[in-house]
Amino acid sequence: MIRVTVWNEYIHEREFENIRKVYPDGIHGCIRNFLEKEEDMKVRCATLDMPDCGLSEELLCGTDVLIWWGHAAHEKVSDEAAARVAAHVRRGMGLIALHSAHFCKPLKLLLGTSMTLKWKECDRERLFTVAPSHPIAEGIPECFALEKEELYCEYFDIPKPDDIVFEGWYESGAVFRSGVTFTRGNGRMFYFQPGHEEYPTYYEPVIRRIIMNAVRWARPVNRLTAERDNIQITD
Ligand code: ZN
Repeated sequence: MIRVTVWNEYIHEREFENIRKVYPDGIHGCIRNFLEKEEDMKVRCATLDMPDCGLSEELLCGTDVLIWWGHAAHEKVSDEAAARVAAHVRRGMGLIALHSAHFCKPLKLLLGTSMTLKWKECDRERLFTVAPSHPIAEGIPECFALEKEELYCEYFDIPKPDDIVFEGWYESGAVFRSGVTFTRGNGRMFYFQPGHEEYPTYYEPVIRRIIMNAVRWARPVNRLTAERDNIQITD
């Protein structure tokens, strides 16, 4: 059983009625609702307003794959909570960062670059599967479209990814590395660009399949129980 935690800052859905209409249970609730139908996944949610920003040591110890959605409150996540997440990823916990989570503290800590990009409001996006043999691309068409998505554009200041699985192209001409993977320590990470809060992106079957594939791909292979250290080899 893969233990999945869907973490969401859960701010826009409470503040704006148009967003609440799209995601009445919150973005985290929507993601939980489709993931928990999978027989190999046990899913729970956590939000910023919970103790320890919803990212306690106990919760992270019981999480194989953490899914993260954030936008308005990146700075409200404490440095301690962000460091806990980063440490767990290095030990083997999977991390899936969605959409505006490109700018979340744990991802910045783990990747070490500014994570800046260019953006513009609504556009039609076509996504191309550019690593068709990658496990995250299993069952995904070579090209598919999202009628409405927020435009994210290069240059996207990320380190060189392990794999670029999806590339996005927008009708106005912008391009973006929309689905990229990284490893840090024993942990696998996937950043995936679609999922602006105003649009029903997480109801799209193809997007759901990508997130499910990513959860299975990011599950820990060899998880360490404590921080690694420099260990002297003795004969
Ligand atoms: Zn957005």
